[in-house]
Amino acid sequence: MTQVTEITKSSLADNPVLSQMSIYDHEQIIFCNDNKTGLKAIIAIHNTALGPALGGTRMWNYKNEMEALNDVLRLSRGMSYKASISGLNLGGGKAVIMGDSKTQKNEALMRKFGQFVNSLGGKYITAEDVGIGTKDMEYVKMETNHVTGIPESMGGSGDPSPVTAFGVYMGMKASALEVWGSDSLSGKKVLVQGVGHVGEHLVRHLAKENANITITDINEERLMQIANETGAKVMLGDGIYDLDIDIYAPCALGATLNNNTLNRLKCSIISGAANNQLEDENVHGKMAMDKGMLYAPDFLINAGGLINVYSELKGYNREQALAKAEKIYDLTLDIFKQAKKQNITTAAAAKAIAEKRIGDKVIM
Ligand code: NAD
Repeated sequence: MTQVTEITKSSLADNPVLSQMSIYDHEQIIFCNDNKTGLKAIIAIHNTALGPALGGTRMWNYKNEMEALNDVLRLSRGMSYKASISGLNLGGGKAVIMGDSKTQKNEALMRKFGQFVNSLGGKYITAEDVGIGTKDMEYVKMETNHVTGIPESMGGSGDPSPVTAFGVYMGMKASALEVWGSDSLSGKKVLVQGVGHVGEHLVRHLAKENANITITDINEERLMQIANETGAKVMLGDGIYDLDIDIYAPCALGATLNNNTLNRLKCSIISGAANNQLEDENVHGKMAMDKGMLYAPDFLINAGGLINVYSELKGYNREQALAKAEKIYDLTLDIFKQAKKQNITTAAAAKAIAEKRIGDKVIM
């Protein structure tokens, strides 16, 4: 993939779409509008060298179109890397629907979105993401076959989050082995930020291992429910970044590793499910490294969900999907080894391996 770096901020302001696409070498963007349902969506296809672009659909109340475009471009590139590093024959894509998933989502909107996905003839395959559940995928499925993560009752693989959480747990244990010489998380102080679909399952794995867990979420009702069920401690507000912890597990939204938080965090390991955790991958990966924090690259350790939906395309087998997600443990250790050997950040090491496979167009 050729990376165009000479684009200046001013040229981006004048040419916000095609110039943005060339920064990370995106293949195609589809803007979807439907006045009847109120659908406003963007589908970004980053790269299809290894296979069709697969990536979930996120519904979010974006401040404006540029924020939505930026999000979908970053997320779709992450999907290319995720598929590549996991050895899947998939490209990277993602979709965002602008709006409030609690009040603006309905059958008509999701079916219209499904029609747009269908119009791409399989070049893009969709699935769930933040704000979108298996029920929504049922509606999308009414309009297109290019969808995964549909309910088990319809022959699909259902919610991918448990497999994602298992993969994150594997990545976290591999990180523990790297830092402490043992992969046991017993007694380790872990902060899980976001106890949604993935965070909840991660907390359950950690609780089984007797980790010392603190959880935080903006949804206080859910936070209290998970705390009651798992015995985790609860913390609210921005003060979480000043806690005395061993492991920070971001499982909400991206960009929580930035100048502000990295100057406050005192953990040894950063290992969570959220996509695009580094606000600026060139700056903040290095900053974490310089501060002695081991960062487990997000697109590597959160690939369990993608592995799960990929398995659905091949005829779903839960055990096989979990066995493949377990390999995240060894892959993570390998990335740490590569990063050390080359004296680069773990994010850079993971990216280089993912880009190489895409560049080579290896069929595995
Ligand atoms: P989710 O929407 O079910 O859960 C996210 C949780 O984070 C919610 O409970 C929400 O209230 C909370 N949250 C949002 N903003 C917060 C904040 N500022 N502080 C604290 N909590 C906050 O989403 P999910 O499916 O659990 O995914 C979580 C993250 O993992 C996302 O970044 C997603 O892209 C990523 N991811 C998910 C999967 C998957 O299989 N679901 C796969 C790969 C990556």
